[in-house]
Amino acid sequence: MLFDLTGKTALITGTSGGLGQAMAVGLAQAGANIVAISSSNSDHTVELIRANGGQIEQISADLSDAEGLNEVFAKSVGFFGQIDILINNAGIIRRTPAALHSQQDWYDVIDLNLNSVFFLCQLAGTHMIERGSGKIINIASMLSFQGGVNVPGYTASKHAVAGLTKALANEWAGKGLQVNAIAPGYMETNNTAPIIRDEKRYTSITERIPAGRWGTPEDLVGPAVFLASKASDYMNGHVLCVDGGWLAR
Ligand code: NAD
Repeated sequence: MLFDLTGKTALITGTSGGLGQAMAVGLAQAGANIVAISSSNSDHTVELIRANGGQIEQISADLSDAEGLNEVFAKSVGFFGQIDILINNAGIIRRTPAALHSQQDWYDVIDLNLNSVFFLCQLAGTHMIERGSGKIINIASMLSFQGGVNVPGYTASKHAVAGLTKALANEWAGKGLQVNAIAPGYMETNNTAPIIRDEKRYTSITERIPAGRWGTPEDLVGPAVFLASKASDYMNGHVLCVDGGWLAR
C-alpha cells in the first residue's frame, strides 16, 4: 500500500515521449490519474495508459510562456478536481560553447527549465497547501552538481532547480507537502540523441558509468513512484540521483 497512488492525480509535464512518458505510464500503473502537458502532443502516452485501463487527459501548451500558466493549471485541476502530485519534467538543452551561447538560447532554456518550474510549483504548491498535502518532484540532472561542457544555460537552470527544490521544501514541509527532485544520469532519449550519435563520446560516457550502461526512461519509474507516494512522506528537499553510479565515481 505504501506505493499505491489510487485516487491521486498527477500533473506531469513533458509527456510526449522520453522520461515524462515513462513516468506518466508508471504512475498510472500505480493507480494515479494523469494530466499530461507537452508542447507537442502526448497521443502515444494517452494510448499506452488507456490501453491499460488508466485515466489520462492531455493539454498541449508551451510552458515557457509564463503568461499562460495560470490557465493551464486551472484547466489541469478541472479534469479530475485536484492535483496531488506535480512532476516538473519538461526541459530542453542547447549545446553551444559559452562564448557563442546566444541570448535566445539562454532565455529559451531558462524560461522552460527554471521559470516554468518555479511558476508551476507556486500554482500547485498553493493548491496543495490549501488541501494540506501534496508531492512535488522536479527533474534535475547530473548538471545540478557538475558543470558540463558547452551547456552553460542548461547547467545554470539545473543547478537552480536543485536549489529551488530545497528552498520550497523548507517552506512547505511543515504544511504537509514534500518537495524533492530526481537527478537522472545519462538516459537514452531525444535530449541525448546527439551524444548517442557521437560514437566516441557515447562509448567514453558508457565506460565511465559504474553500471556499465546508459539509463532507460523506465529506470526513472520506481524512483518517481516512490517520491510520489506515501513511502516518501518524511523526505524533503532531497535530490535523488538515478545515474547508474555516475556521481559516485
Ligand atoms: P525529451 O526531449 O525526450 O522530452 C522533453 C519533453 O519536454 C517532451 O515531451 C517535449 O514535448 C517537452 N517540451 C519541450 N519544450 C516544451 C515546452 N516549451 N513546453 C512544454 N513542453 C515542452 O527529453 P527527456 O530526456 O525525456 O528530458 C526530460 C527531462 O529530464 C528534462 O528536464 C531533461 O533536462 C531531464 N534530464 C534528461 C536527461 C537525459 O539523459 N535524457 C538527463 C538528466 C535530466
